[in-house]
Amino acid sequence: MDYHLRCIECGRKFYDDSLYTCPSCSGLLEVVVDVSNADFRLNGEEVRVWKYYSLLPVKIKPVTLQEGGTPLYEIRSSKKTELYVKHEGLNPSGSFKDRGMTVGISKAVELGKSMVACASTGNTSASMSMYSARAGLKAYVFLPSGKVALGKLAQAMMHGAKVIAVKGNFDTALKIVREICARRGIYLMNSVNPFRLEGQKTIAFEIVDQLGHCPEAIYVPVGNAGNISAIFKGFSELKEAGYTDSIPKMIGVQAEGANPIFRAFMEGKDSIIPVDNPETIATAIRIGSPVNARKALKAIYTSGGKVIQVSDDEIVKAQKLLARQGIGVEPASASSFAGFLKDDEEFESAVCIATGNLLKDPEEAVRVSEKPVEIDPDVELIEKLL
Ligand SMILES: [Zn+2]
Repeated sequence: MDYHLRCIECGRKFYDDSLYTCPSCSGLLEVVVDVSNADFRLNGEEVRVWKYYSLLPVKIKPVTLQEGGTPLYEIRSSKKTELYVKHEGLNPSGSFKDRGMTVGISKAVELGKSMVACASTGNTSASMSMYSARAGLKAYVFLPSGKVALGKLAQAMMHGAKVIAVKGNFDTALKIVREICARRGIYLMNSVNPFRLEGQKTIAFEIVDQLGHCPEAIYVPVGNAGNISAIFKGFSELKEAGYTDSIPKMIGVQAEGANPIFRAFMEGKDSIIPVDNPETIATAIRIGSPVNARKALKAIYTSGGKVIQVSDDEIVKAQKLLARQGIGVEPASASSFAGFLKDDEEFESAVCIATGNLLKDPEEAVRVSEKPVEIDPDVELIEKLL
């Protein structure tokens, strides 16, 4: 497949896959693919990440756990919009990160790397540990100390990563890991890595593949802002290749306590001012200084989208509403549905991205749910409870 890297700031082109930032201006890089190579049909069949190999920048046989192909569920709500939830929590490690990781770890192998690392609020580390184990790579995970949901920590540890808890928040951990990777030649797997985002763009491909058309709007939880950028890129490539003639409005949803992109959007700016101490129950989007903010804001403005902020209470309410329809997701994932419910605008059809599984954060689920009743093993007594 034909592709190159391009700096999103200065526009310079590069053909060295080991780069993730621009050597001349330090801007982030993005992969530019030749969409005329696209050789798949969007017919709803065999939907999964590597169906779209012809638009993914990997030259070797990929490292895969058969990720993607996640269900698109129709959801009831109080609004007229025909609404679907794309349940990314049903990927191998339980989050959308597996899409980027199958491409990123394949690239690490292709480049001959033996070590990979990431800073993570949890889901990236779980996914990277799993795919590194599959590929036989040594994995180093940098987590903000004491701020990672239990399910995610369990995954990173069990799949054999070296887990390092850094005192401070995610933004601090990311700064540290970028420096360590540069010093030690370790391959960085955060969404700074342009190949990760290439995998994540397949969410857009799958939505059109499964729905049979392009929805009018996509609601995406926004933390480090890589996913919304990637999904927009996916829709843009589909349009460029002639599969669709429109691009959905990209609607980012942030938690009130971690809302730098919301603030930038409200002021019409194309870059953010970091939030120093981000706080929200939705740990996966508890990020004050999103690395991909500029890419995300560009996607939002270009598509005619917007940014909505939601409170933790609204997130928990949305999480419960989804759960009562059989969709079990972690808090950050429910933020997209919370944003949809809060949005005054109606569409013909819209898709909420649910990024991670309910089991990622069992402690939060227990905390916000009705507690089990403890009772003696007496049938008559128990009957009165039914
Ligand atoms: Zn540059």
